[in-house]
Amino acid sequence: MALLIQKFGGTSVGNVERIQAVAKRIATSKEYGNDLVIVVSAMGGTTDELTELAKTISKNPPQREMDMLLSTGEQVSIALLSIALHKLGISAVSMTGAQVGIVTESAHGRARILEVKTERLHNLLEDGKVVVVAGFQGTTLSSRGTAEITTLGRGGSDTTAVALAAALKADACEIYTDVPGVLTTDPRLVPEARLMTEVSCDEMLELASLGAAVLHPRAVEIARNYGVTLFVRSSWSENPGTKLTSKSIREIGLAGLELGRPVDGVELLENQAVIALSDLPDKPGIAAKLFEELSTGGVNVDLIIQSTHAGNSNDITFTVAEENLEKTKILCTKILARIGGNLCTEKGMSKLSINGAGIMGRPGIAASFFDKISREGINLRLIATSEVKVSCVIDKKLGNKAIRAVASTFDLSENQIQLNPINIPMNSPEVRGVALDTNQSQLSVLHVPDKPGTAAALCAAMAESGISLDAIVQSERQHKDGSRDISFILKTENRQHADQALVPLLAQWPGSHLEEGPGIARVSAVGAGMPTIPGTAGRMFRALANAEINIAMIATSEIRTSCVVSADNGVKAIRAIHKDFNLGEENLSKS
Ligand code: ASP
Ligand code: MG
Repeated sequence: MALLIQKFGGTSVGNVERIQAVAKRIATSKEYGNDLVIVVSAMGGTTDELTELAKTISKNPPQREMDMLLSTGEQVSIALLSIALHKLGISAVSMTGAQVGIVTESAHGRARILEVKTERLHNLLEDGKVVVVAGFQGTTLSSRGTAEITTLGRGGSDTTAVALAAALKADACEIYTDVPGVLTTDPRLVPEARLMTEVSCDEMLELASLGAAVLHPRAVEIARNYGVTLFVRSSWSENPGTKLTSKSIREIGLAGLELGRPVDGVELLENQAVIALSDLPDKPGIAAKLFEELSTGGVNVDLIIQSTHAGNSNDITFTVAEENLEKTKILCTKILARIGGNLCTEKGMSKLSINGAGIMGRPGIAASFFDKISREGINLRLIATSEVKVSCVIDKKLGNKAIRAVASTFDLSENQIQLNPINIPMNSPEVRGVALDTNQSQLSVLHVPDKPGTAAALCAAMAESGISLDAIVQSERQHKDGSRDISFILKTENRQHADQALVPLLAQWPGSHLEEGPGIARVSAVGAGMPTIPGTAGRMFRALANAEINIAMIATSEIRTSCVVSADNGVKAIRAIHKDFNLGEENLSKS
């Protein structure tokens, strides 16, 4: 017997027949002796219809009234599902978010969950009831101390389910949906996409667009932070679906369930060397050749960064452990003799990183990280960002000072500080899945001063406008006046805001200007085994080269390698990578 939270999405309760089918499924699970809390979404399409209805009256309806309106969608489905369960002889009781004790912050339309008052739930479960909870909604106390209805943001029912699982310490949370689970890539673009039986929450978050299509990222974040055992599976089959795993198990603290600290660790990796190759030919196959040869030569590369440049040359910068520097130099010199370009190396560097679920969903985090470091007078040599990690390379001598400063900024305790962590090889593939993001734009700020605080100022300006940067790449090439270029990728919808946000900065940096990049697609390969399996990046670049795709930008983090390619090459690129890493159906039948 187990305590299970089961969530059924909008399509799964889309009409009376489906509600009845779901009720049967729940009844069977109850007959097995499980204690059940069921979370449901509004019937498919309802939330959109209600939104449209409001928009026909006002383009800008008050958020409070929108919450009042949208929360009715879920109220319909909990009542209908409970009626269907009663019909099957199951004693069920429907509950709104407020009734069940889901307390949120007051931000209407996007409230985060602060707490779940579990007493009423526990009592109902003890009485043997199946509790049917309205997803996507909660309650908050207004400034006058009166209760108000809030909603969590679109797709928020997943968040309700996982939050309930965390608060009740449920044995598992099962998300029932209209897809079989999480697939290795988007099946509409790559028909060979295959079901993943397992994926870690970190990998899921790094697979951004792919993961979010199946599960709300905030739900994944809660599962990761509190160690909720989570499954995504089809409402219409008995297949086990995908299991999401997480390492860290945290107690729900006083800081609030969803507002738990976004940063949960800082780490310093010392004795790193930066290798900067400049003026490389800008054509397919260069990055592939370089990293293949390094991997054959036994060098495991950590961060790789390639920024865009006007003209027909590229710079590629990467880091290796200092002990591999000599070997790397020899290998690079050989390659450069064949393809042309310059080599410059620097040792005595350290990589400083913060990690935590959903760092990128909160643009202020990266900004305050960089700000803290620059206030200590430390220059950022390289920057690498991902969904769950922000890293920079700094002078080793300043490492200690930096790690202390960062730990105090994010209020981290001793056991959250890691000095020279060792990557233990895990039983995880180097590439678990491949995601394509097409709603992204690239923007470069040219001729920015090369001094502490530049990246911080950029990120802070964006953060103040609520814009998350997906990747920030500081180019290696220095202009004659000592200035550099910084490029970043952001959501296309934020493109206009970004221009406005940057105006004051550009005014402050004489000679600097914005440059819009070409239409881009970002392809990301993600796998927890990536840090310990050498040669992954080279293999990915080779797959792209073989498909004759030129790489405009490279940004890696621990478990993700992303390449920016031209917009029209996006689909071709994920197909090539998916195939090369044998992620498709065929491989399954062979193994
Ligand atoms: N009904 C809400 C929506 O459509 C919440 C959910 O389905 O998760 O966004
Ligand atoms: Mg959903």
